[in-house]
Amino acid sequence: LLISFEGSEGSGKTTQISLLSDKLEDAGYDVVVTREPGGTELGEEIRHLLKHSKSGNGMVPEAELLLFAAARAQLVREKILPALDEGKIIICDRFLDSTTVYQGVGRQLSKEPVTVINRFAVGDFMPDWTIILDVPAEVGIERIRHRASDIPDRMESENIEFYRAVREGYLLLAKSLPDRYSVYDGAQPKELVEDEIWEETQERFFR
Ligand code: C5P
Ligand code: MG
Repeated sequence: LLISFEGSEGSGKTTQISLLSDKLEDAGYDVVVTREPGGTELGEEIRHLLKHSKSGNGMVPEAELLLFAAARAQLVREKILPALDEGKIIICDRFLDSTTVYQGVGRQLSKEPVTVINRFAVGDFMPDWTIILDVPAEVGIERIRHRASDIPDRMESENIEFYRAVREGYLLLAKSLPDRYSVYDGAQPKELVEDEIWEETQERFFR
């Protein structure tokens, strides 16, 4: 079982992932939490490269797309598939939908290569469930203003329109495939979001 969390910076992905994984572990499941870009040695190195690219060294969107895809290809084969084979539940902080939205919609790369490259990177493998935490761009920006992130430059270097486009991109994806995606209002108090996600987790997989 692979559950991915999506949403813009400051939407609460990392917080909700840790709450959900604690609950699943309490219920007796083996849970693996991972993130992308990252999650493997190669992936973390790519994360480092991307981090520096955002300080303005001129990385072109095409290169950015391929680096995210490379990190994901490694993550799927090195970590996700083996854990799935062992019957574990994997929770991923971002997955291929981030690329569809950030590189596709945000960077305005054409849809076809983004889809093809995504597909090549993951093979015929998709998350069973994707939770989108939806927050207005202003809320996300306000929340991350004071936090030290390891990829801090993106938020500062992009304008608010980029984040509005990202948000709309996620909502469009969710509309196109309502079975795989659930959208939650990430601007609510975190306890409320936590309860709603737990309720649906049980409904989907354990009832
Ligand atoms: O929210 P998180 O900590 O996962 O953010 C990682 C950074 O990488 C963010 O600045 C996000 O905008 C960026 N990112 C991206 N394209 C992706 C995934 C993440 O630009 N496909
Ligand atoms: Mg996070």
